[in-house]
Amino acid sequence: MSALFDLPERRRVLPGEYPLWDEALALVNRDLAVTLPAQGPLQLLGLPSYDEGVAEYVYVALANGEWHGSVVDPDSSDTAVLALTAIAEAAQETVTECLWQAWPVCDEHDLGMHPRGADGQLSWWCAGGNIRREPAHIRAAVGDLASLVRPPRPHHNRRDG
Ligand SMILES: [Zn+2]
Repeated sequence: MSALFDLPERRRVLPGEYPLWDEALALVNRDLAVTLPAQGPLQLLGLPSYDEGVAEYVYVALANGEWHGSVVDPDSSDTAVLALTAIAEAAQETVTECLWQAWPVCDEHDLGMHPRGADGQLSWWCAGGNIRREPAHIRAAVGDLASLVRPPRPHHNRRDG
């Protein structure tokens, strides 16, 4: 009977098992790579489900396998916008709680942002600056934080013509 007390078997979800979650996680991982480059990509972990009708519980975990927070809503796996919302929220919870830091952070206001639908796409929303009374704003679409970062460019000595 000792098996009763064993930790449930967890497994790494393979690419293609949940295609929309894969796509969503790829977008979120782009944002992670540009904001926390020391972190490896997030991954999906599966654990046995105790609900009839749910094959397994899936979590968004750090590259080292740690995760925190809620199961990814199983009903989100076949609708793109729901999938991205569920994955972004789960990723944020795992990164924030496991690494003890707000993520992702708005560079303008130094505030943690949250996923919100805007103009038909899921975006990172910042509450704005209380002190300077700046309004809430949308920073970038989820997956598009890299567009805000301007990496230092090597100086080329261009010799045109
Ligand atoms: Zn902001």
